Amino acid sequence: ACANEGLITVISRTLGPVDLYRFDRFASVKQRTMLAAEHPTCAWPGCNTPAERGQFHHLTPWKHGGETNVANLVTLCNYHNGINDDDPNAPPRRGRLTRQGGTIVWQPPHTSR
Ligand SMILES: [Zn+2]
Repeated sequence: ACANEGLITVISRTLGPVDLYRFDRFASVKQRTMLAAEHPTCAWPGCNTPAERGQFHHLTPWKHGGETNVANLVTLCNYHNGINDDDPNAPPRRGRLTRQGGTIVWQPPHTSR
């Protein structure tokens, strides 16, 4: 019955909250499981690095007030986490990932944020 709805994540309530807000910078096991279900591989276009070998990136950076909530996190490999343009005040270099309408999209450099 759920197959027509796309990916579905079912996580036990006994393992803690889904969203961590500003309480913890690092994604919980529950969040990592949910994010790997959304993106089994790095979310950067064309990258196939498995989620279990990657990192969990804050779309709005932690240092700019981003929260450790599933809506603000995405699976990235170590390389693409490193080249993502995190700082909105820095000169654009390689583009960045954003969440638009619930979907992760790559925003090219030199476009408005
Ligand atoms: Zn990647």
